[in-house]
Amino acid sequence: MQLVNDKPTVLLVDDEKANLKILSDLLRDDANILLAKSGQQAIAKATEMMPDIILLDVIMPDMDGFEVIRHLKNQDTTHAIPVIFITGLADANFEEKGLELGACDYIQKPFHSAIVKARVKLHLQLLKQRQMLERLALIDPLTSIANRRKYEEVYDAEWRQCMRQGTTLSLAIIDVDYFKQYNDNFGHAFGDRALESVATALSHQLRRPKDFVARLGGEEFIILLPETDSVAAELILNNCRQAVESLQISHPRSKNNGVLTISAGGVTSKPKAQEGKDEVLKFADNMLYDAKNNGRNMVLWKELSN
Ligand code: GH3
Ligand code: MG
Ligand code: MG
Repeated sequence: MQLVNDKPTVLLVDDEKANLKILSDLLRDDANILLAKSGQQAIAKATEMMPDIILLDVIMPDMDGFEVIRHLKNQDTTHAIPVIFITGLADANFEEKGLELGACDYIQKPFHSAIVKARVKLHLQLLKQRQMLERLALIDPLTSIANRRKYEEVYDAEWRQCMRQGTTLSLAIIDVDYFKQYNDNFGHAFGDRALESVATALSHQLRRPKDFVARLGGEEFIILLPETDSVAAELILNNCRQAVESLQISHPRSKNNGVLTISAGGVTSKPKAQEGKDEVLKFADNMLYDAKNNGRNMVLWKELSN
């Protein structure tokens, strides 16, 4: 959790007030500090506030640090938060146990202030790098929109949410028309630039926070529109189609007014069972196929009344 002042948030957990004071004095200039005086409090604060890193004491009454880390690592929302044990237990077996349970580091008391500071800084840097890599792994490098992997995550999550809430999900598969001829005519590099422009034009048509576009691969894209009925969804896709046509990307070999265009096949459904996920995609593909056969530069839609 990065607060407005852009400093990282550190959760300090220790049953000794004096230790909490020393550590917060030490880190206060570089971080937002959260305090917890027991294991229970640590779990509650970590879950609610999602700190960037946790400094965790081992010996505490009721619930010790090992139990706390087990709990945090088992919980989806908190399992990735780096934990540094900071403890008076000097035994190497305890250090081994702490690292095995998923701690990223182990500092023994009495500690040197400069070393605690340096290690916290190091682990925050590693965290930033990891988060950056995770983000990059979900982005299509050519168009800078989401890639197929991200789409699979989002589709699964939205499908489940719609199943739980009984709400509507619309989706559309989009394919660039006569794109092979575009490449043959202008070369692959121009083709790549056209795909970038198409991706940007599609993104600009999406207004709601949950609306989502990804490049599936090649010249194929997908748009997800949760809680959007078929009338609204078809309108949005027609706006997408119009937006691409309005780019006026010259394509002399296209039969659609000599400009680059897209076709889309869309489906609106009320997700009921996990199995329906692939079936909906097949219907969208069929609609796309029909749009291609009916002249292209076209959106065709199907409402599944299940
Ligand atoms: P249709 O209107 O029926 O969709 O015809 P099409 O030519 O668009 O479809 P086809 O599937 O025959 O050709 C797709 C072409 O897309 C083939 C390939 O050269 C091109 N393509 C796929 N991925 C990329 C890419 O990353 N960059 C570029 N420049 N071209 C790509
Ligand atoms: Mg294709
Ligand atoms: Mg195509």
